[in-house]
Amino acid sequence: RRPSRDELLAGLNEPQRQAVVHEGAPLLVVAGAGSGKTRVLTRRIAWLISERGAHPGSILAITFTNKAAAEMRERVEELVGGRARIMWVSTFHSACVRILRKESANLGFKSNFTIYDAADSKRLMTLVCRDLDLDVKRFQPRAILNWVSNAKNELQDHEEAAKDARNTQEETYAEAYRIYQERLRQANALDFDDLLMMTVHLFRAFPEVRENWRRRFRHVLVDEYQDTNHAQYALIHELCADSMEELTTAESGAERVPPAELMVVGDADQSIYAFRGANIRNIMDFEQDFPNAETVLLEQNYRSTQTILTAANSVIGHNEGRKPKKLWSDAGDGAKITGYVGDDERDEARFVAEEIDRLSDEGKARAKDVAVFYRTNAQSRVFEEVFIRVGMPYKVVGGVRFYERREVKDALAYLRTIANPADLVSLRRILNVPKRGIGERAEACIDAYATRERITFWEGLQQADQAPGIATRSLTMIRSFVELIEQLQSMVVAGERVDVILEQTLTRSGYLKELEESDDPQDETRVENLAELVAVAREFAEDPQVGPSADPADEPDPDAPPPGLTDFLERVALVADSDQIPDVPEGEDAPGVVTMMTLHTAKGLEFPIVFLTGLEDGVFPHMRSLGDKPELEEERRLAYVGLTRARERLYISRAIVRSAWGAPAHNPASRFIDELPVDLVDWKRTAAEQTSWTRQDLGGSSYGGGSLTGRGRQQMASRFSSASASADASKKAMAGRDVPSLDPGDRVQHDSFGLGTVISVEGAAEKAVASIDFGSEGVKRLLLRYAPVEKL
Ligand code: ATP
Ligand code: MG
Repeated sequence: RRPSRDELLAGLNEPQRQAVVHEGAPLLVVAGAGSGKTRVLTRRIAWLISERGAHPGSILAITFTNKAAAEMRERVEELVGGRARIMWVSTFHSACVRILRKESANLGFKSNFTIYDAADSKRLMTLVCRDLDLDVKRFQPRAILNWVSNAKNELQDHEEAAKDARNTQEETYAEAYRIYQERLRQANALDFDDLLMMTVHLFRAFPEVRENWRRRFRHVLVDEYQDTNHAQYALIHELCADSMEELTTAESGAERVPPAELMVVGDADQSIYAFRGANIRNIMDFEQDFPNAETVLLEQNYRSTQTILTAANSVIGHNEGRKPKKLWSDAGDGAKITGYVGDDERDEARFVAEEIDRLSDEGKARAKDVAVFYRTNAQSRVFEEVFIRVGMPYKVVGGVRFYERREVKDALAYLRTIANPADLVSLRRILNVPKRGIGERAEACIDAYATRERITFWEGLQQADQAPGIATRSLTMIRSFVELIEQLQSMVVAGERVDVILEQTLTRSGYLKELEESDDPQDETRVENLAELVAVAREFAEDPQVGPSADPADEPDPDAPPPGLTDFLERVALVADSDQIPDVPEGEDAPGVVTMMTLHTAKGLEFPIVFLTGLEDGVFPHMRSLGDKPELEEERRLAYVGLTRARERLYISRAIVRSAWGAPAHNPASRFIDELPVDLVDWKRTAAEQTSWTRQDLGGSSYGGGSLTGRGRQQMASRFSSASASADASKKAMAGRDVPSLDPGDRVQHDSFGLGTVISVEGAAEKAVASIDFGSEGVKRLLLRYAPVEKL
């Protein structure tokens, strides 16, 4: 199929056309969100093939995700037909894999090499740490891997990394790097970062190989250029920079190949992957890096209404050191932005669900037109629960579903073991998680002993002293593990609340500590997910009718015993099951499902209707960024990405109280809300309205309300009161009484339990109850009015 020129250039404005038909010098297309960068890139590929006679095999187009690659390929094939099939449209990683499979011999490994994912890499690094006999407290595999990954992104092999090591710790990291690479090689495996680094090293070490690939790829096109890291930049440079003056090729005698034609498109304001090594300078310095480069600016936005654009421009305008852009739209002002302040995160989610319902009832949108964005994966949990309850079909894009996440599964495996130590799968899952030196050998000895004695594996552990063949060190570790589980079991027997048991499990097992001390950003997410799980447990303990997937028809039975661990586990298991919403193949006008994802995942996408949720300082912008200007600016770029995904309608929302670690947090409104022009937002419900509700409900705590709204408010009221308890209100209320004013983290002395640390405080004044960890005495919940505790 050969489309006409008009067809290829249809629906493009003048600068877009220029970029599509451009020939020769490296071309940079910089433009704000929704200005058609991706469209230009796609069209240019079709143009190259159709009008300039480029062989499809000579085209290398790079996208940020595999999904984006598939879409781009499809668009091009629609335009120029099946012959486009052999062009390379892929992510950097996939392109490198393909190159390395062909060139592996040069690098000394077999072409059937395995690619290690993050989990495999970690397992391997753990082995390395064992080889090196490293103190796992000081040298965590994850931290080392992170360091190694950074080195690889900077194209440093272990020798260079060792040279650059600034202290003994980094020297050890470099040594671990060396052995890690050795083991990868033995396994004929490459990790993710290797794919890029090895390809660049290959091109640099073998000029003739590089020339071959240059000869092949005559056109290189890169989308989302603002998020490339150094290795990716170097790769492009190898293929596209004018290296005629460089000596390497001349010395090797290889024939010089002129550089490929390069086009990169991007938007510095959308650079959001610095934490993974992306370097915003790559796009900012493009004109220096490629001296004869030309630049095309696109200024018309075709995605959003003017209201949405003005809002986004206003927010991003608060970043310093950026080139101001004049992004405009002729789509008209459109609807105002709708704002909502929820009582808590559940109320916020309920608002979103109701609003989507309303829009579809009024024929303004179908579920598939709607996207819900949040800052961290953990926030999906409440949306999932509320959406399941109200029957709103949804899918979570990217990221594993909450209850399938590793850390959540681990935590639940602990609880299952505590509830039922015969549950072999759960027990074995956590036996050595976090690493406590109970190795495979010891495990095998216990297994053999238990089989012989016809007892459970757990009983085998309890009698480990009698099992032959276990090293003393392992034996000590097994004993303390058994003790840990037994202690936690005694909390269950004592009728302790599920959330307290869970918190204790995570702290005493060392699980939480390991994550907190790690510098892998993923582990930060894991900690957040665990905080979410504790919040679920707390909610369940307080009001089992509200927790995950509680059937609203269930009447509370006043005579029933308080819900325990087993009830909780059952409840959670049911959520995980009802979670599975089948992917029904849909026609054009099927309503489809609501899409949920983190802001990072939303890059490059667009939806008619967007809900930007959790706009609270400490959530978004993320806590970590609050005191750090570069990080805060990156958060602001993320906000810009989020806002500019919307085509027609934009919603912004936040919650007054949000659970984290079971202790409700009272987050102030996100500063990004203040950066929006006031007159563009129509607040459905403000903080002021919210607070008056709260006061009313706090006064007369009637428990009659049956509707969701009634319950939401009532629940909010109880949460609000606990939130204020840990703030000044409780201190004031308690002043003058003999009730000590306590905050989480305070140290106290109790007449009979001794020294303790306050975990949380709920309720105010004479109703204040504190959970206090008294170490070996366990965690006690004490009514402070009567408890003989003294603040230290
Ligand atoms: P982002 O920065 O978010 O990646 P982008 O610059 O890549 O955005 P595109 O996704 O290519 O923008 O385009 C945004 C929307 O505008 C798409 O729906 C696209 O089809 C449409 N569009 C782009 N250019 C035009 C045009 N000249 N006329 C009409 N619609 C256009
Ligand atoms: Mg794009």
